[in-house]
Amino acid sequence: MAKLTLHKLCKDYGTGKPAVNDVSLEIRDGGFLALLGPSGCGKTTVLRMIAGFETPSDGSILLGDRVLSDASGAVPPERRNMAMVFQSYALWPHMTVAANVGYPLKVRGISGKRYREKVGEALKAVRLEQYAERRPADLSGGQRQRVALARSLVTDPDVVLLDEPLANLDRHLRQEMEETFREFHARSGATMVYVTHDQAEAMALATDVAVMSEGRLLQVAPPAEIYARPEGRLVGSLIGQGAIINVPAGDGTSRELDWQQLAPLMAQGGTGGATVDVLVRPQDVILGPEGLAATIETVLYEGERYALRLRIEDGQVLRAYSGHLVTPGDRVRVVIGKGWRL
Ligand code: ATP
Repeated sequence: MAKLTLHKLCKDYGTGKPAVNDVSLEIRDGGFLALLGPSGCGKTTVLRMIAGFETPSDGSILLGDRVLSDASGAVPPERRNMAMVFQSYALWPHMTVAANVGYPLKVRGISGKRYREKVGEALKAVRLEQYAERRPADLSGGQRQRVALARSLVTDPDVVLLDEPLANLDRHLRQEMEETFREFHARSGATMVYVTHDQAEAMALATDVAVMSEGRLLQVAPPAEIYARPEGRLVGSLIGQGAIINVPAGDGTSRELDWQQLAPLMAQGGTGGATVDVLVRPQDVILGPEGLAATIETVLYEGERYALRLRIEDGQVLRAYSGHLVTPGDRVRVVIGKGWRL
């Protein structure tokens, strides 16, 4: 069916540094992959190569068994059965919502009963049936983005490509739209690739998250997996909250370190031997009567709890949560319940 495979994909714009460098990944049929990474890391270029707007310098793209692009040539965008949703919506201002949604059908010569049915279904999928006769100017930003989503669905695409579709919306609306996206994905059954630089959005929406940096793919995994077991400093710092501390390597090989393993290493301190980076999540830093001496540096009220930044005696920073108010400058003790060696 619509499993999407990228094999050793490269794109070099001739700028001296490849925009996309040897990216291989598989997105299962009906999967929802978020492509996450800092600005300029090559996310949009990957998306545009999947759509067929950009020709890879090397590597191949397959949809099921069908080769869309390889060294011998490429299937043009209009024959890939994909739809793309942009952050700018790209709606026709002079057309009604229904006409905007139905436009891709018109282009394909579909009219009459089938046209009306498909447009009705697509509008229903994004809960905009009541707005069919309005014009885009009379809609909110979130509603406009839902029109763009409905339009992408109307031709039953195998793959929907989304390029930062929520970037123009405020935080409240983004959360509401995340709900719409999840529903939209469940209903359509389409394989989706979603470009974002917002890790919370990627984690909330996708079945798999792919982290990119400087054209390379660093890790692909389901959200819970990438949160618990990030590969390397960059993924560790990009996904979720936490602090990275540096401790003597010791002689253990386990990646998950508990307090029994960490305490002796931290007591040993900087003796000049090999060291390792350890990611510590705030919920694993426990304030109590014993452990490392630390000073609270900042306190941020988050409603349900306080988010703290604290500095331990060797000068390194940890993050933690507290249920009650503490004050910057307070001296506390902390135990690190769990850390992940990067
Ligand atoms: P953003 O989140 O800012 O959109 P991105 O991760 O999507 O970034 P790309 O747009 O894919 O990144 O760009 C990757 C790299 O390729 C960047 O260094 C960019 O400057 C470069 N690049 C993109 N398009 C072109 C082009 N048409 N010609 C030359 N260089 C390009």
